[in-house]
Amino acid sequence: MLAPLLLLWPISIAATHHVANDIANEPYDQALAENVGAISRLLRVVDGRVTISLPASARTILHADEQDELYFQVRNSQGKLLAGDEELPAPSGGNEPVLAEVRFRDERLAGEPIRVAYKAHEVEAGQRWVVIQVAETRHKREALASRIISGVLLPQFAIIPLAVILVWLGLSRGLRPLSRLRERMATRRPGDLSPIEIRRAPEELQPMVRSFNDVMERLEENLQAQQRFIADAAHQMKTPVTGLRMQAELAIRETDPVQLRRSVEQIARAAERAGHLITQLLTLARAESSHEKLHRFEIVDLEALARDVTFEWVDAARAKQIDLGFEGGEWPSAIDGVPLLLRELLKNVLDNAIKYTPQGGRVTVRVIAAEHIILEVEDNGIGVAEEDRERVFERFYRVLGTEADGSGLGLAICREIAELHRAAISFLDGSNGRGSRVVVVFPRAGTSRG
Ligand code: ADP
Repeated sequence: MLAPLLLLWPISIAATHHVANDIANEPYDQALAENVGAISRLLRVVDGRVTISLPASARTILHADEQDELYFQVRNSQGKLLAGDEELPAPSGGNEPVLAEVRFRDERLAGEPIRVAYKAHEVEAGQRWVVIQVAETRHKREALASRIISGVLLPQFAIIPLAVILVWLGLSRGLRPLSRLRERMATRRPGDLSPIEIRRAPEELQPMVRSFNDVMERLEENLQAQQRFIADAAHQMKTPVTGLRMQAELAIRETDPVQLRRSVEQIARAAERAGHLITQLLTLARAESSHEKLHRFEIVDLEALARDVTFEWVDAARAKQIDLGFEGGEWPSAIDGVPLLLRELLKNVLDNAIKYTPQGGRVTVRVIAAEHIILEVEDNGIGVAEEDRERVFERFYRVLGTEADGSGLGLAICREIAELHRAAISFLDGSNGRGSRVVVVFPRAGTSRG
């Protein structure tokens, strides 16, 4: 605030100077004008010549000023001096005298500034006119202007530093709660995500503190979810790794080549399961919707992609004598998506459908292009009870009694991928209330992100 104040100060000084000069001129100009009037009343025409009857006393009075020199002068219309002080210059260039109106101008006489009042005066109506000028040096005026200026400016020397001190005090008092808040935040322990006490924050800052607390709360939840996930993942990894170790220890002690071979086969299967779990964990980490910026979105023809993936599963379906079908529409089914992740989503859902449908069952993949683009995988397998349908999307959740191999991560991955694509995923009944139907509703291309 000091910089603009200091900038305003010279402007204020200049303005004061101007106004003070105007004020100081006014009463002295009036006195000069009265002198012009007085001289005009002394003019006579005698024998066709203009004369002035100025008594000596009047001349003394005219010059009797303690501070300033006074001059007067009368010239005729040709510029010839009729009376008064010759050295006073005649009005010229833009300062033409006007009849019956007293004008003023600033001049210099012998190097000193003077103020001149002048007018043209008609001595005989419509006939002769003369120019009357009265002038004085500016000492009185300057003294008055200086008094006005110092009267206005001197207090400013005291007021401005006082204002600066008051502003300083006010600001530092006003900002103290802010500094306290800053200190409280700066001295927090690194892992402390507890909310800031709103009551102790200044009123203006409370909305900001509230939003900040919201962010902290979400961060806390996120952190806890991450920690839970790591604990779960470690726990899930422990089982296959423990199995592997025990089987390996058994195999070391085995002497019968046939038994040894069986043990090694078991080890291979356990290693495959552990490998699958690791792959699923990595896929989940990669699909996390918070990583949206890491993925390259492009226009994807969902129908072509789904047809392609379905085709890859024909052999697996055939091995279980499952009738795997595909139904597409005639309408374009373009969405904004990441092809690799969309394939992963469909693979997981299809894998489940085939895994949880008994031999001889039916699985259908369907793409419907309407207001939204819908991907459906329907089976007539064992289905999932109503109360479990939300939970199957949770990480590591497997319906109680599920026998088939699996990590419980497949549908969690699907949900992450769906969220990343701003799609809604749900687990429903199959047709006729048998089996299951997983439905993913995608926004059309160009409508999901700005
Ligand atoms: P998993 O690796 O166990 O298949 P998912 O997350 O893919 O893990 O599925 C979670 C659980 O949901 C499964 O364990 C299974 O009980 C149930 N589930 C998923 N898909 C189907 C389906 N098509 N039919 C019946 N149950 C299913």
